[in-house]
Amino acid sequence: MASAVSSVTVVGAGVAGLRVCEGLRERGFDGRITLVGDEVEPPYDRPKLSKEVLLRPPGEVDPRLVPEHVLAGLGLDLVLGVRAERLDPRGRRVVLSDGRALVGDRVVLACGARAGQLPGVPDDPRIRTLRSLSDAVALRKALDAGGHLVIVGGGFIGAEVAASARLLDRAVTVVDAVELPFARILGAELAGRLRRIHRERGVEMVTGRGVTSVGADRDAVRVGLAGGGAVRGDHLLVAVGARPRVDWLHGCGLALDDGVLVDAHHRTTVPEVLACGDVANVRAADGDRRSEHWFAAAEQAEIVARTIVGDMTPPPGSDHYFWSDFYDHHLDVAGEPTLADRATLVDDENGGAVLEMRRGDTLVAVAALDAGRRFRRLRRTLPGAAR
Ligand SMILES: Cc1cc2nc3c(=O)[nH]c(=O)nc-3n(C[C@H](O)[C@H](O)[C@H](O)COP(=O)(O)OP(=O)(O)OC[C@H]3O[C@@H](n4cnc5c(N)ncnc54)[C@H](O)[C@@H]3O)c2cc1C
Repeated sequence: MASAVSSVTVVGAGVAGLRVCEGLRERGFDGRITLVGDEVEPPYDRPKLSKEVLLRPPGEVDPRLVPEHVLAGLGLDLVLGVRAERLDPRGRRVVLSDGRALVGDRVVLACGARAGQLPGVPDDPRIRTLRSLSDAVALRKALDAGGHLVIVGGGFIGAEVAASARLLDRAVTVVDAVELPFARILGAELAGRLRRIHRERGVEMVTGRGVTSVGADRDAVRVGLAGGGAVRGDHLLVAVGARPRVDWLHGCGLALDDGVLVDAHHRTTVPEVLACGDVANVRAADGDRRSEHWFAAAEQAEIVARTIVGDMTPPPGSDHYFWSDFYDHHLDVAGEPTLADRATLVDDENGGAVLEMRRGDTLVAVAALDAGRRFRRLRRTLPGAAR
């Protein structure tokens, strides 16, 4: 395979796309790499959008994943601000929004995900989602203007934005259909602590209430609640998860199912086309898995680079690590919480807490709130921790 490959087209200039390019160069690939991204900015670090970019004054944070000279050193054909609109997988041909068509020996789909949206949401500048740098800059401007922020969705992005907005001293209400957000992966006790932290910081938590409608009039945005009543505010962030960006791939012939289906080497149903990151749904004997975490995207990109240069040794396993930051707290999670049949929350001597999740006697997942050292020690014992 290696000798046959002299050009690679990568669609999506996020962490997965960039890491594919880096991984190829690190492995001595000296052919042509074209990196296509529909955002105008060079590859940047999306996790900063709900944290530093919101918290610090505009322009103070450099969100780029790598400095300019490192990017230049990769020797890429960088095509930014241009969308890939069509793919012919067998011809390995990508048609771009500027009319160009790129043909490479391999095509990598690293086009990520878009923010989920609620049905029937009016088109109103006070109602937004958060996925891109421009979304974050606009949200920061809205926060600067003052007023009350309502967030629908108390997951990681909703919770991080709530924290950032409170640190900027804005009034915040979080609405979530689930009574205790995070309980499914972190258990009731740790999830309860997270909710307490938000409440103590002044976030109004309206939980266990579904959203029946979203509206906007001259004075306010309005979120209708199941069971009656409504929350009103000046701005609304809809933070209800993400959807893989496969809209442009429908009908192209690749197998799609909650993302682009790939095998363990990240090959799609047309092996010359590979996929990684938030858009990839990895087939496995115990079920398909699509990740929406930064390290998973980087790890998968590494596997794509290996596959393209012909390294078909079994890819390393993953321990599915991710993190979250809110206020002055840091949460680490690794492993497979859903496999656990019991969980024990242990207080850490430094005021943090560690949740050890076991199946029988085997540690299958660990989550730590402000307990990094203990987390790292336990993480090393998890399956897939070899990396
Ligand atoms: C606000 C926020 C905070 C987050 N915080 C954390 C965190 O704390 N910890 C964590 O583990 N994860 C976090 N994540 C998740 C993490 O950022 C993602 O898992 C990661 O960015 C996925 O990388 P990716 O390269 O697969 O996709 P993306 O980062 O989405 O990059 C894909 C790129 O492809 C572009 N693209 C899409 N379609 C096309 C097309 N047709 N043509 C050209 N370009 C296209 C997109 O515009 C985008 O630039 C966060 C995500 C968000 C939005």
